[in-house]
Amino acid sequence: MLGLMMAEPLRVATIIEHAAKWHSDTEIVSRLPEGGIHRYTYADANRRAKQLAQALHRLGIENGDRVGTLAWNTHRHFELYYGVAGIGAVCHTINPRLFPEQLVYIINHAEDRLLFFDLTFLPLVERLAPVCPTVEKWVLMAGPEHLPKQSALPGLCSYEDLLAAEDGHYEWPSFDENTACSLCYTSGTTDQPKGVLYSHRSTLLHALGISLPDSLGCSALDVIMPVVPMFHVNAWGLPYAAPLNGAKLVLPGAGMDSASLYELMETEGVTFSAGVPTIWLALLQFMREGHRKFSTLRRTVVGGSSCPPALMKAFVDELNVTITHAWGMTETSPLGTASRLKANQLTLPADEKAAILTKQGRVVFGVDMKIVGDDGQELPHDGEAFGDLLVRGPWVVRDYFRAPTPGEMTADGWFRTGDVATIAPDGFMQITDRSKDVIKSGGEWISSIDLENLAVAHPAVAEAAVIGVPSAKWSERPLLVVVRRPGLDVSKEEMLAFFRGKVARFSEPDAVEFVDALPHTATGKILKTQLRKDFAGYSVA
Ligand code: AMP
Repeated sequence: MLGLMMAEPLRVATIIEHAAKWHSDTEIVSRLPEGGIHRYTYADANRRAKQLAQALHRLGIENGDRVGTLAWNTHRHFELYYGVAGIGAVCHTINPRLFPEQLVYIINHAEDRLLFFDLTFLPLVERLAPVCPTVEKWVLMAGPEHLPKQSALPGLCSYEDLLAAEDGHYEWPSFDENTACSLCYTSGTTDQPKGVLYSHRSTLLHALGISLPDSLGCSALDVIMPVVPMFHVNAWGLPYAAPLNGAKLVLPGAGMDSASLYELMETEGVTFSAGVPTIWLALLQFMREGHRKFSTLRRTVVGGSSCPPALMKAFVDELNVTITHAWGMTETSPLGTASRLKANQLTLPADEKAAILTKQGRVVFGVDMKIVGDDGQELPHDGEAFGDLLVRGPWVVRDYFRAPTPGEMTADGWFRTGDVATIAPDGFMQITDRSKDVIKSGGEWISSIDLENLAVAHPAVAEAAVIGVPSAKWSERPLLVVVRRPGLDVSKEEMLAFFRGKVARFSEPDAVEFVDALPHTATGKILKTQLRKDFAGYSVA
């Protein structure tokens, strides 16, 4: 027997419609890549997203067609999220930091029909266009005054001209909630990038999931600034969760440097933000240098790579800002776990609470997880046993878009994350490593993440990475690669001594090398495949 409740399909357009109706005067503020600050309301955003929807219909975009974006966090990108998905097409956000060959691969693989881009990316798209034959029209996300005098880009027009031709009188159509709404390719450090195709249902459930107080937690009282880019995993779902909750949204555009972020946070009263550790490490440095304080920022979510405990501590102690450590992947929309204490942990001593909060955290309802050994058997939740982390849930990928081979699924329907983790009896998960990065020394596994977290706690270290290098006796031993802070010095011996007594003797790095910079992926993670190539042939006694 079926229930007798309304079967309203879950669709992302209902989010913006809700915000426009019930939080009509709540603001979206954007720093524009072409200069200046743009300010309007959810009611305005809904109207313009509808104008965009009308324009897309006029251009012949149909259900399931892919519409690409190469854009920063701005109100126009926000409108594309809703306007494209709202008509049943797919908003394909593309990471401009990928190598040009990867961009060409992705655009051709997705067969994007239209491509919307920020002014910053004009020189890039001029190079891409001749080798992206599926793109019928290139749209500059700015007013017509910014159009180049001459361009060979097919169908080039300005976003504002496109919208100006429409009146915005439009009803969002209804369709199956499993319809695709957005597409994001993984960074593909080893293989070709793989497309994760989110549905309206998965996106809406994820937006509700991240709104919960014990996960990221969003409210109408918040002023939310996603520093995580809208071209990577939908800015962790915040462009959906903010209007869903009626929170003011602040979009930093191309200004991801510390000074610009700080200025916008202060002028717009940002209370809550989210981003990868590198952003916060740089911001911490900036705050320290100028003896600055935040007047409104209270919380930030850090994920994408392991958040160093020293960073969490400095944020609380020096800046009075709480960091919520969270874990997720492109394949998990992204939120999988968040580190928030449980009631029975509140009375623990401060150092024990801090140690719990440095873990990647516990699952949010909607995600289930387990760890398994090499034989596929489930391992205990004792905080000691570590194994491959498997997840499942309504916002976890089932298969990749147009993939030639099946996704990373087990026969019984779990997604293999490629991460190695422990789960403690209290349910807190801790990532030990990417399975490809864990260092296998003798019979022991050494977590590169643990060593990196420790290294960046040294005052002279700006960034650090640990990789396994061959050892005749132990098969692999840890090599620490360090970028020193400008003007600060530390010797190899001092660096190695810094680990003494802080980790098990066998885990201590055997060698350290100093470099000017570390290689990074397009999403800001340390590119260990490259680092292993750079240090190929290196071995420790
Ligand atoms: P991506 O799909 O590019 O967002 O990368 C997902 C991967 O980033 C995960 O599989 C993890 O290896 C890593 N990652 C994400 N969040 C964390 C975290 N809090 N701690 C450690 N690794 C993380």
